[in-house]
Amino acid sequence: MAPQREWFEKDYYAVLGLQKGATEKEITRAYRKLAKQHHPDANAGNKDAEERFKEVSAAYDVLGDAPKRKEYDEVRAMAGSGANPFGPGAGGGFGGAGPFGDDSGVRFETGDMGGLGDLLGNIFGGRGRRGQTTRQPGAGPRRGGDLEAEVHLAFDDAVRGATIAVQLTGAAPCHTCGGTGAAPGTVPQTCPQCNGAGTLAVDQGPFSFSQICPRCGGSGRVVEKPCPTCSGSGSETRTREVKVRIPVGVADGQRVRVKSKGTAGSNGGPPGDLYVTVHVAPHPLFGRKGNDLSLRVPVSFSEAALGAEVKVPTLDGSVTVRIPPGMASGKTLRVRGRGMPKAAGGAGDLLVTVDVVVPQALSEEQRQAVEALAATESANPRAHLGV
Ligand SMILES: [Zn+2]
Ligand SMILES: [Zn+2]
Repeated sequence: MAPQREWFEKDYYAVLGLQKGATEKEITRAYRKLAKQHHPDANAGNKDAEERFKEVSAAYDVLGDAPKRKEYDEVRAMAGSGANPFGPGAGGGFGGAGPFGDDSGVRFETGDMGGLGDLLGNIFGGRGRRGQTTRQPGAGPRRGGDLEAEVHLAFDDAVRGATIAVQLTGAAPCHTCGGTGAAPGTVPQTCPQCNGAGTLAVDQGPFSFSQICPRCGGSGRVVEKPCPTCSGSGSETRTREVKVRIPVGVADGQRVRVKSKGTAGSNGGPPGDLYVTVHVAPHPLFGRKGNDLSLRVPVSFSEAALGAEVKVPTLDGSVTVRIPPGMASGKTLRVRGRGMPKAAGGAGDLLVTVDVVVPQALSEEQRQAVEALAATESANPRAHLGV
């Protein structure tokens, strides 16, 4: 039997190429980079990449979730501090690679581990019953992996929201058997050897161990007649289209989670989720910060000096902005409620920044007018510079 490694033996930080004290941001950044690099879509048929992708997803599943990460750190600290009662020689199955090294194929009965067992249960949703406490490959229902995808949106589509079809290639529930692995007309049966538990109890001294059931491989179920399409695996590789609803007002770089649209689970486990990173093209006129939009509006010198009413565009028609007399270049006026629409989570404002335009060439008449203005100017605008 292949060696089983418990989740807390794995250094999820190392999997993501990080140190233990990494920030949430660093974790997310490392995950995205690696998930993209090893994504099945980009590595069709590459088993190593698939393995790496799974590892990286599993690591992020824990480290990317603050409460799970805390528990993981605590269990790791406990294991490393020697505070655990299960050191080398405590009953076999430990020692070896790490404090919980276990290359025997025999799993420690985590239900007997008190606090540690609770932590295990919390992190992996274990049922706290003998032999079914942790999730491992081939041991009971297993959730499918999460997938990453990217979509590119025009600015207007981001404003209004959109439904985008995303093409995904990867493992999906087999279309013939619906993922059960059983031939059409049949259903998987409860494993007769372990009665569905997936494990067999082995008593050794004061400790009770459980071994993965050799008959069902830990799933607790056996398929008598395998599905001809997927040979009983329950999944097949295919390209599928997922319709992703992009929320109104989505921002560039935002990630949209589409529940249950990731990789199919195994042994009856639920599918993973799909995460779609949205890229929004810039608008030719408007900038955006949160729900506010920004716009630079050129005004002439006389408009800035005397004040003016100028018409400016918005996402929805135009609006007249009153420039007060003596408006300085670079100053910003706020037009309430004319930013991102309300549906985007609270209407934003339109921030109009005024650029005073200096004429490049003057007609004779204009030159005389400006010279007349200059003749009236007595105050030195640079007096504060002290030169
Ligand atoms: Zn099938
Ligand atoms: Zn069995």
